[in-house]
Amino acid sequence: MPRLKNITVQSSSPLLLLRQIRDVMAQAASAQARLDQVVSIIAGGFASEVCSVYLLRAGDILELYASQGLKKTSVHLTRLSVGQGLVGEIAATAEPLNLANAEAHPKFVYRPETGEEIYSSFVGVPILQGGKVIGVLVVQGKKAQSYTPDQVEVLQTVAMVLSELAISGQLVDAKEIKTATGGLMAQQLTGVRLSSGMARAPAVLHQPQLVITQYVAADPDHEKTRLDAALRSLQESFGAFIESSGLSDDDEQRQIIETYLLFTQDRGWIARIDDAIASGLTAEAAVKKVQEELQARMSQLASPYIKERIQDLEDLSNHLLQALLGKPVVPEAQELPEAFILVARSLGPAELLDYDHKRIKGLVLEEGSLTSHTAVIARAMDIPALARVERATAVIQPGDTVIVDAESGNVYVRPSDSVEQAMAAHLHHYDMREAEYALFRDLEAETRDGTRISLNINAGLFVDSASVMQAGVDGIGLYRTELPYMTSATFPEVEAQRQLYASMYAQLPGRRIVFRSFDIGGDKKVPYLHAGEEENPAMGWRATRIGLDRPGILRDQFRAMVQAAAGQPLYVMFPFIAQLAEFDAAKKLLLQEVARAAVKPSPLRIGLMIEIPSSLWQLEALMQRADFVSIGSNDLMQFLFACDRGAAHMADSYDTLSPVMLCVVREVVEKAKARHVEVSFCGEMARKPLEALALLGVGVRTLSVSASAVGPLKRMIRSLTLAEINEYLPFLLQSPEASVRPWLAAWARDHGVMV
Ligand code: PEP
Ligand code: MG
Repeated sequence: MPRLKNITVQSSSPLLLLRQIRDVMAQAASAQARLDQVVSIIAGGFASEVCSVYLLRAGDILELYASQGLKKTSVHLTRLSVGQGLVGEIAATAEPLNLANAEAHPKFVYRPETGEEIYSSFVGVPILQGGKVIGVLVVQGKKAQSYTPDQVEVLQTVAMVLSELAISGQLVDAKEIKTATGGLMAQQLTGVRLSSGMARAPAVLHQPQLVITQYVAADPDHEKTRLDAALRSLQESFGAFIESSGLSDDDEQRQIIETYLLFTQDRGWIARIDDAIASGLTAEAAVKKVQEELQARMSQLASPYIKERIQDLEDLSNHLLQALLGKPVVPEAQELPEAFILVARSLGPAELLDYDHKRIKGLVLEEGSLTSHTAVIARAMDIPALARVERATAVIQPGDTVIVDAESGNVYVRPSDSVEQAMAAHLHHYDMREAEYALFRDLEAETRDGTRISLNINAGLFVDSASVMQAGVDGIGLYRTELPYMTSATFPEVEAQRQLYASMYAQLPGRRIVFRSFDIGGDKKVPYLHAGEEENPAMGWRATRIGLDRPGILRDQFRAMVQAAAGQPLYVMFPFIAQLAEFDAAKKLLLQEVARAAVKPSPLRIGLMIEIPSSLWQLEALMQRADFVSIGSNDLMQFLFACDRGAAHMADSYDTLSPVMLCVVREVVEKAKARHVEVSFCGEMARKPLEALALLGVGVRTLSVSASAVGPLKRMIRSLTLAEINEYLPFLLQSPEASVRPWLAAWARDHGVMV
């Protein structure tokens, strides 16, 4: 093993101290040899006899890892639990202790193996990582004197550098730290389901944190200038955002940015960063140090208000780090495992899309809501996803095995053997079902009495072309075009849209693709289009309403579709049509674009979504003008029953298998058939076999569902005699009950229908 060059120990200047530590790090040596050298440098720098490093091990034990001054035989032998002795007290409170006479402190415990009885003064600081204590750094001396506040500050700075070196594996084996942070204990977390499913894979942490490579400053004045410039640039960009956003004073987003702006002028906060720079850190390391200390304090506080404020400061620190360091480091695709569960505090849709979606098997977020853009995309990706999983990023370490069970809202982190076994049974069952469904790949979706049901896929942004190119799947029944609008900073250009749509044609030769014009607004807000405050965004300025008020945007989209079709068939469907006049107006815009195109789509089919109840009273007129209609039960249900589709607490209030809903569907189907208009069903309801059974019973023959539902639906369809359900369903429609679910389920059981 290479031996360390002996570095002269002589400095009490923080800058010199840090440089000496940096020089030790630059040499090739074992982690222990480096740590030994570092403690001796620190003891020298403090002109004290002792410097020791304790690291937290599994089970909340603090182990003496290196010491200058204490007996060498006590290293790796002396262990204290958190809360025990002075070192344990520092770990428990995450606060420094500075004592002239250590023995006089009530928490003092004497460990004979260390030989520390001869030392009187004691100063110790926590070594923090991500706001958690991972160790304690202690300096002790014979003389009964307390250390100056400046010296405590210097020790904290050194502790911060040690923490970074430790976590990057340069000082101790990184695995030891993982153990220390409780990383190896099994944990169960809970959250709110955004998208259903179940997955087991190693965790990847989405870290918008920035990687700091330089801790020790060459020139503190220069670092101070960098910090000031970064603060100024943040203030300017926040100010510019507020001015250009057009957001009203009471808009939440505006208020947050204004709070940030105030924080950038917070003297206390800036003074702490300045102090850290003065003690020898680079600007970014200083910001990180203050951030760590705030995080540690936060974990000790109970007040939600203060926690929230500190959280804001933490966010601001991240912005500041970004201003100092440039773009956050997103792991390169090749560095990521083939399959992983993505864990993040919060994640924007664009950030989610930065990852290779084929590898993401699940998503765990600390924040987020059902209606967030990220949730929409997670559902589009068909991966299990949970939001509001508290402390997920603190508990889950990169590479940990994680099981996401979105069905029950549980996340199992580093599952114990018994949890693994129980979940393996679930996963096995799940996988078996998936494998069974895979057997249907080459089979048509045909009932036992020979009726072929047309299955189609709901897609948007990602298309698993293999799921479309199987027997029984006719194409894309609903292509949600709004996702690219939501993930870009401005309206997507015509050419960008054309390319996207053209790639759909290229991926799915010969298959029908129903493009739905954008359904932005409502819960799918786009950052560059401000509807103002809306009490009920789902009923607000949304979808075709926006398109008719801003025809330029809609025409751009139609132009892109017509160009992408390049003479091939083009199916376009308008969402959120409340009445005939809107359909006519949208159709006119589309026909104008077709008229000016050099190459016309052939054939051109124009349809609409039936999802606003008012359209039910103009069905016949609509059917005369439309080539096809598609029933969107997600919106139809919420407006029919006046029951918010995004409100989790209302989710069970009304059943899609209510006779009311089924009667409405039957009416649409009958009117469409009478006019020879194609009718399909693309709401979420259709993805469940029992619900799909009811839909077939009221006459639906074309379903559009997410890709994962194809297998279960084929299985149900192939076990069904259509004539039998056609006969039974009219009886259920007469039911006075709120839901016909139990009757339908019993019927399916009795008739061997696999739902
Ligand atoms: C619906 O409302 O049923 C539908 C399919 O559209 P979306 O979920 O995109 O509103
Ligand atoms: Mg809808």
